[in-house]
Amino acid sequence: MKIILKSRLIVVFLITFIPFTAAAQDRLSIAQVKDGLHIITGPGGNIGVRVTVEGVILIDDKYPQDFDEIQSLVATVSDLPVKYVINTHHHGDHSGSNASFLQVADVIAHKNARDNMLRGDQDGPPRLIYTDQTSVFLGEAEVRAYYMGRGHTNGDSVVYFPDLKTVHGGDLLHGTAPFIDYANGGSSRGWVGTMNNILSLDWNTAIPGHGEVMDRRDVLNFRNQMEAVRIRMAELIRQGLDADDAPEEIKDPDLSWTQAEGGLFMNRSIPGFYEEIAAEL
Ligand SMILES: [Zn+2]
Repeated sequence: MKIILKSRLIVVFLITFIPFTAAAQDRLSIAQVKDGLHIITGPGGNIGVRVTVEGVILIDDKYPQDFDEIQSLVATVSDLPVKYVINTHHHGDHSGSNASFLQVADVIAHKNARDNMLRGDQDGPPRLIYTDQTSVFLGEAEVRAYYMGRGHTNGDSVVYFPDLKTVHGGDLLHGTAPFIDYANGGSSRGWVGTMNNILSLDWNTAIPGHGEVMDRRDVLNFRNQMEAVRIRMAELIRQGLDADDAPEEIKDPDLSWTQAEGGLFMNRSIPGFYEEIAAEL
């Protein structure tokens, strides 16, 4: 009898262990940022997970295929369901699971982010929008979304957790180099002002859209580099720089974004960036 019982246990163990092993090999993982706030990392934008006694609020939801894995990871930190998802902006690596989350939760974004989703024919546009500021109050927590001006796009939300002194900046903050999405209202000039607005809030920890969790110095450095690349591009254009030569000529060892070969800034931002700065001169 003992042997039979043991083999049954092994079967049960294998059945439960196989999906667990598969999950362990999957791409996403979750880590605590502060009490009640976690981050889901892996391909796609960083997800903020605010756990409250009345349910969970997510900031962003990665790609469409990530819905089940996100839900599984949330279940490791809360027994309660996701009630709200706030999209920091419309890009598909931040709002990709919206269509699935809309079945179980409310999705909120800035008005312009929703407009960008509709124009881009993306699945799962949010049901709820705001223009200047909005808040979700759940459990003991407030999660506040601000529109602070143009930057990565024209519809970026800065999500603030006042009690935790933490912000989720979406792709307004990036661990390596930023992408200025000119086709969707992005602006380097607006971005500097938006960074100043973010820095005016009371916080000590910032979750970027991509990359490691930041402190105020990291965010200040990011802001300063945005200003520095704007000044450098303006100098080069004044000296007669052609648009075609901009990606090569802007390279500067002191500007890490220009050293990130093949990155978002060098390949995708610079054509529009050149035009934006040229138009300011
Ligand atoms: Zn983005």
